[in-house]
Amino acid sequence: MSNFDQKFTDVNQLGEFNLIDRLTSGFDLKNKSSILGVGDDAAVIEHGKTNLLVSTDLLVEGIHFDLMYSPLKHLGYKAVVVNLSDIYAMNGTPQQITVSMALSSKFSVEALEEFYAGIKEACRIYNVDLVGGDTTSSPKGLTISITAIGTADKKEITYRSGAKPGDILCITGDLGAAYLGLQILEREKQLYLNNPGIQPDLEEQKYLLERQLKPEARKDIIRIFKDAKLIPTSMIDISDGLASDLMHICKASEVGAFVEESKIPINQEAQLMAIKFQMDPITTALNGGEDYELLFSIDESDLEKIRLMPSVYIIGEIVKKEDGIKLHTTGGNVHPLKAQGWDHFDDKT
Ligand code: ADP
Ligand code: MG
Repeated sequence: MSNFDQKFTDVNQLGEFNLIDRLTSGFDLKNKSSILGVGDDAAVIEHGKTNLLVSTDLLVEGIHFDLMYSPLKHLGYKAVVVNLSDIYAMNGTPQQITVSMALSSKFSVEALEEFYAGIKEACRIYNVDLVGGDTTSSPKGLTISITAIGTADKKEITYRSGAKPGDILCITGDLGAAYLGLQILEREKQLYLNNPGIQPDLEEQKYLLERQLKPEARKDIIRIFKDAKLIPTSMIDISDGLASDLMHICKASEVGAFVEESKIPINQEAQLMAIKFQMDPITTALNGGEDYELLFSIDESDLEKIRLMPSVYIIGEIVKKEDGIKLHTTGGNVHPLKAQGWDHFDDKT
């Protein structure tokens, strides 16, 4: 029997998260050291006095990055940073990475050295060690898989599942800029393809482009939490968009939430650019993704600890599950929040 003779359910019908749920259900954890498996930003493994955190990500050329506008050095940097972000999202400290890649013959040694220069820079800035990987050929393009390993004090780990009604919902920085950076790059790419003589002037959009091409993970915030003796009740990093990632917290914690539209931080350049693209700035903040800010909840009694924290914004509250996940608009309306995060399965090539 061929692998394709069976009943054919299109993966788009399920979507990424339902597919993961369906494929991984029934994998019960057998080992006592496996504290948490699938379902959070990183797996948690007991290891002596601390816990190990493990997170992995796969980046595919043409789906997650476009080498027409992503310099290889930036790409190497970003590939590491997005993985480290998942370790920080558990309130942990990344320590090691492995880097695996499948590459086609279009890549020169020099190009790959550029890519590794970016990886090295991220290792330096985030104080992590490159400890291994794998290299193989590919019929087409570049595929990168990075695994990050970190540690966390057993009492300090934050899961997606710890939010409870009454908790305050916070975010660590502005949203939407990375998505708008991507829109600018896509627009310039089309202009260039139509007229290769044109040199784009991207100087004015520096912030938006940097958020897209060279994002940072919130290492600083984890330090600030430690200093303030604050342990969030739940946390996730914003990779798919505020709406989608808030839904992950709500699902894992079996709670609802509301977000005040007027409290969502949006950078001014992002706001202006959204309007230029005829998009609602709020929609780009809710659904744009790739911001790599931390979305977290805290117990009400910890409110004083965050009041003066730099770049921490209160955006809403955790409520009972029955109350749903809602957006309180500036105009006084209440809408159910919809997630339209990245769905890479939309691409059928
Ligand atoms: P993040 O956006 O934080 O990287 P993902 O949405 O990629 O998280 O993954 C959610 C959870 O599903 C994680 O625990 C991840 O390890 C797990 N996961 C994703 N894909 C698979 C897979 N193919 N097999 C097993 N687990 C997976
Ligand atoms: Mg994550």
